[in-house]
Amino acid sequence: MNKVFNFCAGPAMLPPAVLQRAQSEMIDWQGLGVSVMEVSHRDKPFMAVAAKAEADLRELMAIPDNYKVLFLAGGGRSQFTAVPLNLLKEGEQADYLITGQWSKAAFEEAKRFRDVAIAAEIDMSTKPIALPVDIKVRAGAKYLHYCPNETVDGIEMFEEPAVDVPLVADMSSCILSRRIDVSKYGLIYAGAQKNIGPSGLAVVIVRSDLLRDDMQVPCIWDYAQQAQQGSMVNTPPTYAWYLAGLVFEWLKEVGGVAAMEAHNAAKAELLYGAIDSLPLYQNLVDASCRSRMNVVWQLKDESLNEAFLAEAEALGLLALKGHRFVGGMRASMYNAMPLAGTQALVAFMQDFAARHG
Ligand SMILES: *Cc1c(COP(=O)(O)O)cnc(C)c1O
Repeated sequence: MNKVFNFCAGPAMLPPAVLQRAQSEMIDWQGLGVSVMEVSHRDKPFMAVAAKAEADLRELMAIPDNYKVLFLAGGGRSQFTAVPLNLLKEGEQADYLITGQWSKAAFEEAKRFRDVAIAAEIDMSTKPIALPVDIKVRAGAKYLHYCPNETVDGIEMFEEPAVDVPLVADMSSCILSRRIDVSKYGLIYAGAQKNIGPSGLAVVIVRSDLLRDDMQVPCIWDYAQQAQQGSMVNTPPTYAWYLAGLVFEWLKEVGGVAAMEAHNAAKAELLYGAIDSLPLYQNLVDASCRSRMNVVWQLKDESLNEAFLAEAEALGLLALKGHRFVGGMRASMYNAMPLAGTQALVAFMQDFAARHG
């Protein structure tokens, strides 16, 4: 097989070293003669995996002691429902900042169950696309939900919104990609399949004082119950949890989140530099909020889209087609994407532009 670079937005590529280790341990894990998939989540060997993964994540993100870390089934979107049900009783309010497709979807889901309102909404029709400035949180709001990195639209918010209520952040596509101060948040959640591991797993980091034990929430998404039972109210996605643990170990080996931040900034700078300097391409997001994880761009002549994608794929540059809602191109470059992948993409884009310019 030729060398490929997989730019898929999610499920995304995993570090090759992690996949190799998982492969080597697949059949005979820790000399037990069985796979990690085949052992009880409540016995010592798996409990050690679970505890190590949590401890490593705490270390990587410097998560303060007054936060619980949960490993839950259901992926990112499960938390669109779990967040309002855990944090709001009927009649209580929360507000949502909308900066793209995912924060909009989180708002729409919360609206089905609770009294939620839009604190501000991005205007995609004015170019370059910029973040809303005037965020209005209602007096009674219990939290402000936002999405720091909009995976579909390629828009990233590098500063936390300045509001007086707890922040709830959907970090599915930017967790562990740059340093953040966890103590600025009430709750952080992330589907795993972008920067952590396999799909289906959600990581929830929640400040303990926000946990309420008198909420009507399906038990597997009840934060208070799950926190009390070590995320083992039911059988957790053990293999996904194990793989997440391997990714955290890998992250520590390669220098942690600070090293990833520099690595991700370098890749983004290289790719945006190519888009901005080659007249064939354009990106319409303001420089202040261009995503480092998901770079979106258009070919000004859209009739070249298919040729672009076919030639890229033939070179092993995979999954560059933009999301079906926005079209164009998208390169997702999470932690696992090496600089060589971005360099190969940029070299192809230059060559393509030279031939079609
Ligand atoms: C991918 C993604 C989700 C959805 O995750 P699922 O695991 O598919 O439910 C939610 N929010 C953001 C920001 C995402 O990138």
